[in-house]
Amino acid sequence: MSTNPDVRQAVVDTAMEMFTIGLVVGTAGNVSGRLADGSVAMTPSSVPYPDITLPGLAIVDLDGEIVEGSARPSSEKAMHLNCYRSFPEVGGVVHCHPAHASMFAIARRAIPACIEEVIVYIGGDIPVAEYRTTGSDELADEVVRHLGARGAVLMANHGLLCVGKSPEDALHTAAVVEHTAKIVAGAEALGGVVPLPDEIIENFTNIYGMIRGSWQPPHLAEAS
Ligand SMILES: [Zn+2]
Repeated sequence: MSTNPDVRQAVVDTAMEMFTIGLVVGTAGNVSGRLADGSVAMTPSSVPYPDITLPGLAIVDLDGEIVEGSARPSSEKAMHLNCYRSFPEVGGVVHCHPAHASMFAIARRAIPACIEEVIVYIGGDIPVAEYRTTGSDELADEVVRHLGARGAVLMANHGLLCVGKSPEDALHTAAVVEHTAKIVAGAEALGGVVPLPDEIIENFTNIYGMIRGSWQPPHLAEAS
């Protein structure tokens, strides 16, 4: 059993913050964090955000088996777990349905990395994963395939998934994506997006690579 109240509390606090800033409505979306023993703390299925408590989190292993307590994990757990299996440096995952980012997801259009901070926090354009049924292993594979070395991916006709060194970090990325989607939609109404110069894109992509290489989620921090 993991004793890691900080990560668990971060999952609870990040979920409430995601709800409060309007990146989801109702009980949509989900948040998870990797614990020091390698298991994952995840928001429970169909519980209103203000009612999510620390003991009410679902604790699962990387295969999705419940390893502690009786809470039922989110029905969208497969894509969270596939992110943790595929990217050892990832310590937090958020999935949400923000309005502007979801417009791009439904139009099946990548959000261009036309602002420096987007490249610093996401690593480049925000790609669109193909449509697959919600909660399926096929969707989990699609999300990871498009995520690659990026911090965020749009899910066609669905929403957004972001990874980070922690749950809070992944939520910050989601907020940057939503803010950027709003700006890009406005810029397109004003005549179109002018890309950043190539060398700027390359420089900032390298910065993202360095930042991501420095992530030390709890399971790696304890091992070092
Ligand atoms: Zn969803």
